[in-house]
Amino acid sequence: MTNNMTPADYIKREDKYGAHNYHPLPVVLEKGEGVFVWDVEGKRYFDFLSAYSAVNQGHCHPKIIKALTDQAQSLTLTSRAFYSSVLGEFEEYITNYFGYDKVLPMNTGAEADETALKLCRKWAYDKKGIPENQAKIIVCANNFHGRTITIISMSTDPDSYKGFGPYTPGFVTVPYNDLDALAKELEDPNVAGFLVEPIQGEAGVFVPDSGYLKKAYEMCKAKNVLFMADEVQTGIARTGKLLACDHEDVRPDILILGKAISGGVFPVSAVLADDDIMLVIKPGEHGSTYGGNPLGCKVAIAALQVIKDEKLAENAERLGKIFREEMSSIQSDMIELVRGKGLLNAVVIKPKNGKTAWDVCVAMKENGLIAKPTHEHIIRFAPPLVINEEQLREAIAIIKNTIAQFE
Ligand code: PLP
Repeated sequence: MTNNMTPADYIKREDKYGAHNYHPLPVVLEKGEGVFVWDVEGKRYFDFLSAYSAVNQGHCHPKIIKALTDQAQSLTLTSRAFYSSVLGEFEEYITNYFGYDKVLPMNTGAEADETALKLCRKWAYDKKGIPENQAKIIVCANNFHGRTITIISMSTDPDSYKGFGPYTPGFVTVPYNDLDALAKELEDPNVAGFLVEPIQGEAGVFVPDSGYLKKAYEMCKAKNVLFMADEVQTGIARTGKLLACDHEDVRPDILILGKAISGGVFPVSAVLADDDIMLVIKPGEHGSTYGGNPLGCKVAIAALQVIKDEKLAENAERLGKIFREEMSSIQSDMIELVRGKGLLNAVVIKPKNGKTAWDVCVAMKENGLIAKPTHEHIIRFAPPLVINEEQLREAIAIIKNTIAQFE
């Protein structure tokens, strides 16, 4: 302990001075390394949330931290009023890495989504010839793209949108994983784009049918509609490939990235597209003071390099199979369903004797593993991708023992 505060004291202080916009698990963390985090009493936990898949490279990865501290000593922020010696280096690196002409750097996932929406609308008017203010964007039911007013205007989750209206118009919702519904909406000539998560993470790790993304992409192409993939959560090796779209060889027209492109070290997000799309936005039409800052640029380069150097996509693919196999083998009527891809997985919990997914998470925490329920009955399991098989098996044993406690 670094002082004489108890965990309860820390929690009380956050409750007193912070907005109550989250409901955290009662654990107070103060240190992280690789797949582990430690609480203020020195207890170690497997981190099976990875900050909602931002910490794919593991906590405090030494190469990413070095990039941060090195750059922090020379230049941290210029704003985009001036050129910097590292922004171009990052832009060249990330566009080569993902195979696009250009990148537009921002900070958070929500901002990257907003950027994609603006790009799509501008493209609709400048290139597709949709009459001004008539562009529509198709989104999916149960999506999660962040928390801004426009993004919650696309949401079908009352927790996200209720009480925050009036909403931004211009969105059409179709059920996820439903190509017929998509085909119907694509008939409208004012449709400019289709925004989709390749796997719906926040909704509870919903994996669409195999072939869905490919077919949806082809249908969009046939109608001159931009296919926009929100890979903020699924991208950067999480699902066993660099991008979840890679599973179906789909190259989105607009690729939206965040979270793990900086390995949980510094907020960086990015939108990638080719010139035909990206250049519709002109000077003064979009931006962010911190977007493309030198610190974030260096951190993101290092974080993306780690993904390749340590073959984290391959690791996620291999260990994900073991994880799902082991979860599926648990004999408990509390486990309704196991699903996922790579190391983005979920277990659907059937409440038993009044005990819910939340109780399971609290019990797992007591046993040394932290994860968080999403939508009440679903527990997402998403460890840092640097986890090795021995660590994974140890973590699986903790989950199994915890479930057994409820029998
Ligand atoms: N898009 C997806 C698919 C996400 O999962 C999230 C966050 O969970 C976001 C966007 C929003 O990212 P941020 O919280 O960085 O704004």
